[in-house]
Amino acid sequence: MITSPAFAGKRYAILGLARSGMATLDSLHASGAELLAWDNRQDLREIAARKATIGDPMECDLTGYEALVVSPGVPLNSHPIAKKAALEGVPIIGDIELFAQARDQLAPHKVVGITGTNGKSTTTALIHHIIESTSVPAVMGGNIGVPILSQEPLADGGVYVLELSSYQIDLTFSLDCDVAMLLNISPDHLDRYDSFHDYAAAKARLFDMLGADHTAIFSGDDEKSRLALHGLRDLGRVQNIVDTSNRRVEGQADWPSLQGPHNLQNAIAAIAAVEALGIGEDQWRLALASFKGLAHRMERVAEAHGVLFVNDSKATNPASTGPALGAYPNIHWILGGVPKSENLEECEPFFDNIVKAYTIGEAAPMFEKLLTDHMPVESCEMMLTAVQRAAANAKPGEVILLSPACASFDQFRDFEARGDCFRCAAESVIVKDMVGTAARDAAQ
Ligand code: ADP
Repeated sequence: MITSPAFAGKRYAILGLARSGMATLDSLHASGAELLAWDNRQDLREIAARKATIGDPMECDLTGYEALVVSPGVPLNSHPIAKKAALEGVPIIGDIELFAQARDQLAPHKVVGITGTNGKSTTTALIHHIIESTSVPAVMGGNIGVPILSQEPLADGGVYVLELSSYQIDLTFSLDCDVAMLLNISPDHLDRYDSFHDYAAAKARLFDMLGADHTAIFSGDDEKSRLALHGLRDLGRVQNIVDTSNRRVEGQADWPSLQGPHNLQNAIAAIAAVEALGIGEDQWRLALASFKGLAHRMERVAEAHGVLFVNDSKATNPASTGPALGAYPNIHWILGGVPKSENLEECEPFFDNIVKAYTIGEAAPMFEKLLTDHMPVESCEMMLTAVQRAAANAKPGEVILLSPACASFDQFRDFEARGDCFRCAAESVIVKDMVGTAARDAAQ
């Protein structure tokens, strides 16, 4: 785990004891800090009691504490703890800030930080994969995989690749990345910010922390990404600013897990990041071809009779679904769930690729209205029905794509459960078809 003598003898309060909170507790405890910890869940409080005093920071006097470490899941815009901590003069930080403060005790290393509305996990995993393929030690953390403070420190020359959500950046104040990247910005998480402007400003703050001789990469051509890029250029402080929005790179056909225009954007941004670390084209080309991709993101889950089933359950907003629709020419599109906007504007440029749409969940009636003039639409309500209907209609060479453009919470625990349900439905449809064929053969 990552620890630091800088934390020794200091008092920290920890609010939220899920994965990153528990990692924070372990790291601060091992560093010799004195801890107060709290979570609404009693089972988590019981685990934490071995290393911390249990108490709700809302009810304890925090005066004199070094910091209050909160989980990124705590909505600071509405939670009363923000006001209380401010009154008691205690800064609110997250585990990434603790990592930043522990860095000077780590062996010489580099940090790549990736933010953006869509594509963070894919790009983080890709950059990590390219670096590892060159035999340089690397780990990924932040919003992906194992919390960063739980990871073993890297040997000399290693690279920490961090996926950073806007909530995590909100809790980070001194992370000077060697390479900081903004992929794109589109409206999302607006329940946690007063406006789209504030959400975009939260992401752009990653660059406020960037040292003058480090590298900033911008890949989105959306308005907010352009504003952030121009803002940083105008300041004239950071020397290496790379704009990949117009860069063209050939060879995407050789990267099976990076299909679609969005993944080309991600790949080009990743290339710029690894080039800034000194990795050359012959090395990154090999790694792009061997990249396996992540579950629930354009994941090929099954194939039968020439029909491909693709699970893109992670596409929880229209901006992430749009490019997924651009990845294949003949798509049976399963969409729906809890809508995040009242239109499908970002998907419209790709409507010609859709053979038929199958709606599920809460957004179904709204989407049917929006789509019916553009394509055949079938109301399915449930995932299994949608997969069965799509499988009955799809012809060889066509793709059945779950890319819902919605959150999953109306019918599923999370986007992973939704993707798993799609995969099971696809498998059951295939098995049923095989059994049916066998029965027909036997009867003949
Ligand atoms: P994040 O971690 O930012 O949520 P992921 O890599 O998990 O990003 O991808 C989330 C969804 O966004 C995927 O379903 C994918 O279809 C879509 N996506 C990936 N990259 C991009 C991009 N550059 N632009 C728009 N959508 C994208």
